[in-house]
Amino acid sequence: MPVSGLPPYDDGNIFARILRGEIPARKVYDDAHALAFHDIAPQAPVHVLVIPKGAYVSVADFSAQASPEEVAGFWRAVAQVARQLGLENQGFRVLTNMGADAGQEVPHFHVHIFGGKPLGPMLARG
Ligand code: AMP
Repeated sequence: MPVSGLPPYDDGNIFARILRGEIPARKVYDDAHALAFHDIAPQAPVHVLVIPKGAYVSVADFSAQASPEEVAGFWRAVAQVARQLGLENQGFRVLTNMGADAGQEVPHFHVHIFGGKPLGPMLARG
């Protein structure tokens, strides 16, 4: 069971389908714990998504339910992807949306990596 807020994991979500190879993605990284691919509607010159291989709805679900190996492997992959994309020197932003107020669209935990230009304020005002 997910920890709160969101419905149970839905195996038909788009990222689960990418993990199963049912639909294509522009992959940049793949290991035992994580898959990274370019966002289909980029909001920065570099906009990559990193997802765990396991079935977790949100960051809260992942943090509560995943094994220590999965958690460590996932976050190491996030840093590795940013390094691989050449973002370390200039910097980058890592963001995750959870639930309705954050506007989470895809109910498989993911983080966005943004970079490639100065990214401005963290949130739009208002
Ligand atoms: P979120 O609002 O945090 O759930 O973000 C979901 C992200 O997934 C959005 O930035 C979408 O553009 C992206 N997205 C949706 N479908 C795909 C897809 N098939 N391949 C890559 N990115 C996708």
